[in-house]
Amino acid sequence: MSRKEAILSLREVLIKRRDALRKVLAENLSSMNGYGTQANGDVVDAALDAVHGEISSQLAEVESKELARVENALQRMREGQYGVCEDCEVSIPMARLMALPYATKCIQCQREAELHPPKQEKGGDWPELADPFDDDQYLSSDLLNEAEIPD
Ligand SMILES: [Zn+2]
Repeated sequence: MSRKEAILSLREVLIKRRDALRKVLAENLSSMNGYGTQANGDVVDAALDAVHGEISSQLAEVESKELARVENALQRMREGQYGVCEDCEVSIPMARLMALPYATKCIQCQREAELHPPKQEKGGDWPELADPFDDDQYLSSDLLNEAEIPD
């Protein structure tokens, strides 16, 4: 099987995965919307429902993150960039893509990214907190030095 054929078959896998994730998320959303309306005044039931809702929303978070990765991979296929490391632009080995169809980095760059997470990741969670945090570290180490000076 050529690389192109392999990528086409991975595309099928990704589309199926995307549809499955969308379905699960839609079901999850509708069950979360339904929660509360069927509570019949029982406090314990209501508490259990709340715990259930909490667990479902955590699962939904994991699933929506995976969905975003899958959609990103499909987008890269449309752009003809699929299977190319987004950092160093080498071809990602087919074995890695087979194991992780939504990988966008080669193993080296992935390791690098895990060891040194970018401060301003595109669409990252709290990019605005990255820089003040560095300042805080700097300030607190200064305070620490002053605290060590004996009276
Ligand atoms: Zn790379």
